Amino acid sequence: MTKCPHCRHSYRYKELLPFSWRSRIGVVCSNCNQTSYLSAKFKKQSTIIAVITPILIFSLNVFEVPIQLMFVILLVFLCALIFAQPFWVRLSKEEEPLW
Ligand SMILES: [Zn+2]
Repeated sequence: MTKCPHCRHSYRYKELLPFSWRSRIGVVCSNCNQTSYLSAKFKKQSTIIAVITPILIFSLNVFEVPIQLMFVILLVFLCALIFAQPFWVRLSKEEEPLW
């Protein structure tokens, strides 16, 4: 699991899960009370995934997948991304610019 960049304390899953919807605020470490932010590398990886999503939608449309099935596939894809994010998130001490 991801560690605090300030004190190397291992975050628990439920501490990292809010990064999925409040990444700009940061997460306060329960051990050292310092705020950690998403690393620039992780933000770039997230951007790539955001680009893949419309490609996935287009691909499903090309193969004439029914809209109900397409909705279910996208919902599962989105849930998998949100709930898997704490396992691959990388943090930094300061908010790093994307470029
Ligand atoms: Zn810490």
